[in-house]
Amino acid sequence: MKIAIVGTGYVGLVTGTCFAEMGTEVFCVDVNTEKIENLKQGIIPIYEPGLEEMVHRNQQAGRLQFTTDLTECLDDVEVLFSAVGTPPDEDGSADLKYVLEVARTVGRHIKKHILVVTKSTVPVGTAKKVRQAIQEELDKRGVQVEFDVASNPEFLKEGAAIKDFMSPDRVVVGVESERAEELMTRLYRPFLLNNFRVIFMDVPSAEMTKYAANAMLATRISFMNDIANLCEIIGADVNMVRKGIGSDNRIGNRFLYAGIGYGGSCFPKDVKALINTAKQNKYPMRILQAVEEVNDEQKSLLFRKLEKHFNGDLKGKRVAIWGLAFKPETDDMREAPSLVLIEKLLAAGCEVYAYDPVAVEEAKRRIGDAIHYAKDIYDAVVDADALMLVTEWKEFRMPSWSAVKKLMATPLVLDGRNIYDIKEMEENGFVYHCIGR
Ligand code: NAD
Repeated sequence: MKIAIVGTGYVGLVTGTCFAEMGTEVFCVDVNTEKIENLKQGIIPIYEPGLEEMVHRNQQAGRLQFTTDLTECLDDVEVLFSAVGTPPDEDGSADLKYVLEVARTVGRHIKKHILVVTKSTVPVGTAKKVRQAIQEELDKRGVQVEFDVASNPEFLKEGAAIKDFMSPDRVVVGVESERAEELMTRLYRPFLLNNFRVIFMDVPSAEMTKYAANAMLATRISFMNDIANLCEIIGADVNMVRKGIGSDNRIGNRFLYAGIGYGGSCFPKDVKALINTAKQNKYPMRILQAVEEVNDEQKSLLFRKLEKHFNGDLKGKRVAIWGLAFKPETDDMREAPSLVLIEKLLAAGCEVYAYDPVAVEEAKRRIGDAIHYAKDIYDAVVDADALMLVTEWKEFRMPSWSAVKKLMATPLVLDGRNIYDIKEMEENGFVYHCIGR
């Protein structure tokens, strides 16, 4: 089977590579010429564990090809996945311009049946718009070509994307015809050996499933952050509360960690988009509005704690930051809590020395030389008045605290991810602040 994946970002590149790994012949298409030229030479534009090796293997086997021209492969493929970006519009709704651009290109050029599958996260009703856009172009050409549309939202997590794609909890597919269902079943069959489930449903439900899943996960995070903030006021320990409630099967123990808020390319954007869809339909999403509000405040929490510690006098303070990426195992900094924190620290007159194992290049692209970039965790804390743990990378878990203390000007640690032990930090002579404990 031959397929095209349009949009070679986190989702498109992982999807294309994983299908190729299962023997499918894949054309990855992107309008970004530099990205495609690099990929042709085996240079991977993102950091994702295991991806580089898998791309090279499939490229060498001739199953994975890269092009900037969709029309080159359109005659050859049975299925086209659209995995282009759907960034938030000014009002928070998902901007569908890239998705519809792909649909129009398909309509302008197809000569035989094709199944167009939207993998991007898109609001309910998008498949209908995709169908319309393709049909309008066919009408302009005055030709009749059969085609199907489907929805196949992606649930992979950056940092574990390959594993998630190769053995997902489930695959959700929204279809409108038997032909589309048959094609999708054939395509995902190699993965069935891993015993996961393909859940077929109607297209609007599939589109909604993705938003509901991300909104639920974001809700759990904001809920725990709210509980953590109250724990701190009344003298309870949110880590204990997390263990206490997570052991209840009805609740489960994942996504219950208090911290400095969710970031990334999906949760903030998808929560906003769902609130907006509801608004357009005159239904207020009260819970999600609160989820967003709690998250926005949580991103400033470490800064407020620092401000309180120094009685509001932060001018000239040297602050070390461990972790810039929005979560470990990725270089993605979209909506990262570190960005809000750094902005506030700089505005207050602090000097920032940051270290991240992989996101430094991305940080330089976003914030340039407004901050200093350290070469490792110890370099970052030299003469620091405070150390802030922002992303819970594994290499931050067991530092030599005696070395850190010797290097810092003031032994003050603010832990935004609750990864250190309160007693141990005190025994090591640090003033230690964390979240909800
Ligand atoms: P991304 O920004 O990393 O990649 C999108 C790519 O599409 C870019 O390389 C861009 O150049 C390309 N593109 C734009 N217009 C194009 C066109 N007309 N033709 C060809 N290529 C085009 O985005 P991403 O993070 O991969 O996300 C893609 C979609 O998947 C979004 O809707 C997102 O919400 C969703 N999603 C993302 C994740 C994630 O973890 N990143 C997870 C699940 C779902």
